Amino acid sequence: EQIPVIAVDGPSGVGKGTLSVSLAQHLNWHLLDSGAIYRVLALSAIHHHVALDDEKALAQHASVLPLEFKTVNDCVQILLNKTDVSGEIRMQEMGEAASKIASLPKVREALLKRQRDFRTLPGLVADGRDMGTVVFCDAPVKLFLEASAHSRAERRMKQLQEKGICAKFGEILQEITERDERDRTRAVAPLKPAADAYLIDSTNLTIEQVFQQALQFIKSKI
Ligand code: C5P
Repeated sequence: EQIPVIAVDGPSGVGKGTLSVSLAQHLNWHLLDSGAIYRVLALSAIHHHVALDDEKALAQHASVLPLEFKTVNDCVQILLNKTDVSGEIRMQEMGEAASKIASLPKVREALLKRQRDFRTLPGLVADGRDMGTVVFCDAPVKLFLEASAHSRAERRMKQLQEKGICAKFGEILQEITERDERDRTRAVAPLKPAADAYLIDSTNLTIEQVFQQALQFIKSKI
């Protein structure tokens, strides 16, 4: 019997992260934030002056990346070389850089095993772009979240405001649209729902409603 996985995919700002954390807590399962891995790799490459289009060097870098996820009081800290980089990797520029390196096939290949190693008992909730299509293509539950670019930009804007960061709506909307376009049109592991994914459009739903819909589907599958 395979260890169960819930794959949660979708574009940026759609609420995958929030949903995945809630599901993992509710089920008491492990959590994989795969985007954080791409972000940490981008950060480390920048620190080491590795060019963001040098596929071979980046793949080599990915295979030895000293990355750890550490849980402290219910919060996940992301450590690079034992240093907490959780805040730094959330910056807009790091999402941009992550998306650039994520389009390189050898980089994705180098990160495959590292992601699959998270599949341990009792189960895993995996958040990303290609969890259901590539990394855990045999997952018994696949969720794909969608929402209009406008509503995703609004959500991002609110998150930033809560952190006391001033942001321009137009710029956020543009950033979100560009990043999605790159993620959806890349040759390898493009962002798209798996054939057997359950689609949830969260444009007009609250966080709680998305959670309940997801949970209902999960119960019908596991
Ligand atoms: O989800 P998050 O915004 O942290 O991801 C940052 C970037 O990493 C995404 O825009 C995407 O290009 C890339 N990514 C990916 N595959 C994943 C997770 C993230 O290509 N499974």
